[in-house]
Amino acid sequence: MLSTRIKSIPPSATNAVDAKASELIKAGKPVLKFGIGAPDFDTPEHIKKAACQATMKGRVAKYTPAGGLPELKEAIQAKFKHENQIDYELNEIVAAAGAKQILYNTFQVILNKGDEVIMPAPTWVTHFEQVKLAGGIPLFAELPKDLKLTCNLVQEKLSARTKAILINSPSNPTGALMEPKEIRKIGELCTKKNILLVSDECYEHFVFGNTPFVSPASLSPEIKAITLTVNAVSKTYAMTGWRLGYAGGPTEIIKAMHILQSHSTGNPSAPAQFAAMAAFTGPQDCIDEMREAFRKRRDYVLRAWREIPKIECADADGAFYVFPKVSAYFRGNIKNSSDLCTYLLKEANVALVPGSAFLADKYVRFSYASSLEDIKEGMERIRKALAITL
Ligand code: PLP
Repeated sequence: MLSTRIKSIPPSATNAVDAKASELIKAGKPVLKFGIGAPDFDTPEHIKKAACQATMKGRVAKYTPAGGLPELKEAIQAKFKHENQIDYELNEIVAAAGAKQILYNTFQVILNKGDEVIMPAPTWVTHFEQVKLAGGIPLFAELPKDLKLTCNLVQEKLSARTKAILINSPSNPTGALMEPKEIRKIGELCTKKNILLVSDECYEHFVFGNTPFVSPASLSPEIKAITLTVNAVSKTYAMTGWRLGYAGGPTEIIKAMHILQSHSTGNPSAPAQFAAMAAFTGPQDCIDEMREAFRKRRDYVLRAWREIPKIECADADGAFYVFPKVSAYFRGNIKNSSDLCTYLLKEANVALVPGSAFLADKYVRFSYASSLEDIKEGMERIRKALAITL
């Protein structure tokens, strides 16, 4: 019954890890979850209230325009201007049900069968599955030890079929930030070759090291003209459940995304649109509070992984992930990252995502979107469980 297209796509490995961990917790096991890709905080009060008030005032009962309410687009426009120094017209903006839908729509509207999209490896699972779902071919620029993508690495993968380059800084799964000069070089390369630069900026506010976050569309009018800036309220405001993502980019692409959306899901849910408006226009100190909590945890986690013998862990200056190289522990029955995660779940009751899910089998992804207390306990369990294997 199923199409060959859907049969070629495996279920999301990160969701699978979470489901397995939840199952064990339900069965009474003291499992600590470090596989999660969502902030562990609640959505700030003023955002929740705005959605409730709009609902009670009868403002959410009807369809809205497929790409979002004009007031929401104005709030997104102001956000891009003030936070990212990018001037988008309203017809250069679209909202959807999460950054996932934005990315899905992007590849559906730009790719013909066999078109290529260059992205780093490791990369987030959904990035390459969505390219495949649109009939495209993901090509992977293998990252060096520091897990930072450079223009040279991208250039090696260029071909006459390259339609887009996808960057994600800070990155899921590595937590790495790209150097600003490399972002500029990639932007200039895209301009020269007329290739779309898709910049996934979902973790822009969670940056902890010396490398600054840079939005390529802010670098020059020429780079802006070939860049699609993708973002969401999901991570920034602890709103992963609300489903509200958005993009700014060339009108031709944005218009096509509106058309696709009008025939698929229609508008992003109206209460989420009102919540997002409150998020953009209300107080922003909730972001600072989350960033500071993440910073403390990240400092702890990075140190704790690095103290474990034979583990290498690159600087993870952003997002809420670290990506330690664990292959020194592949021995006996533990042959790969998936075996290691199974072992850690069984022996230490900790859930991590195997690097193989992100095309990097020598690694595991540890999400520190958990309390510092759980992180300390989890790292101690991991340390002890790994020591036994040596
Ligand atoms: N982009 C990246 C890099 C992500 O890590 C995620 C979620 O994990 C998304 C996009 C999807 O975000 P949303 O929840 O807004 O669909």
